[in-house]
Amino acid sequence: MRLIFLGPPGVGKGTQAARFSERHDIVHIATGDLLRTAISEKTEVGLKAKDFIEAGHLVPDEVIIQLMKDRLQASDVQSGYVLDGFPRTLAQGKALSDLLKQNGSSIDRVICFYLDEAILLERIVGRRTCPSCHSVYHLRYRKPETDGFCRCGTALIKRTDDTAETVTERVAVYNNETATLIAYYKGQGLLTEVNADRALDAVSEAVEQVFQESSI
Ligand code: ADP
Ligand code: AMP
Repeated sequence: MRLIFLGPPGVGKGTQAARFSERHDIVHIATGDLLRTAISEKTEVGLKAKDFIEAGHLVPDEVIIQLMKDRLQASDVQSGYVLDGFPRTLAQGKALSDLLKQNGSSIDRVICFYLDEAILLERIVGRRTCPSCHSVYHLRYRKPETDGFCRCGTALIKRTDDTAETVTERVAVYNNETATLIAYYKGQGLLTEVNADRALDAVSEAVEQVFQESSI
């Protein structure tokens, strides 16, 4: 099973991908998490990505494509995965298709979440994340059991790119860059849109329904 969760920043795709991954015992790959880990470990990829992320811009395609080529070769993902935050441009989507073709496989379904920009902003500004296990919380909608701490015991942080100014830039980048990618998957009959303006469980149910109806 190879799935892509697409959508603007803050729509809830990471939260849904984590839930789906747990429910179906399938690997969740989030490029944002891979990049943030690379930054904290000061790897070559991390050094290349840092300034782009902080400005709310996309990291260049060649850096991301190489990162994902390496990740998708690992033994833990050979039976499938849910991709969250990748691909984000048409070039990335085509590179992924080529890579899969070489292995005789393909993407099974693309779920594209949508939500009004004002709600995206509210979700992002209230987001708190765990730098250790990458769990995601919200000050209002998904509070941690202990204020300020993840269930794994690590202190939660606010991402440096989760500010109102950066969000506006990131949403604009999404609208510009991802439109052609959405058209690409629509053209292949792979895309299903899901309204993310609902409580967490209701969105999860909608995702589950798409999955069941896709008979993957
Ligand atoms: P993305 O991965 O698309 O950037 P996240 O999954 O990190 O988005 O979610 C963004 C923020 O919104 C997080 O703080 C998360 O807890 C919260 N969130 C996610 N889904 C919902 C929802 N359905 N209702 C309310 N808040 C949500
Ligand atoms: P995310 O955690 O998905 O919100 O991603 C955080 C930031 O990482 C984005 O704003 C981009 O700067 C960068 N990033 C993550 N995934 C990609 C990607 N597929 N292509 C380019 N940049 C990415």
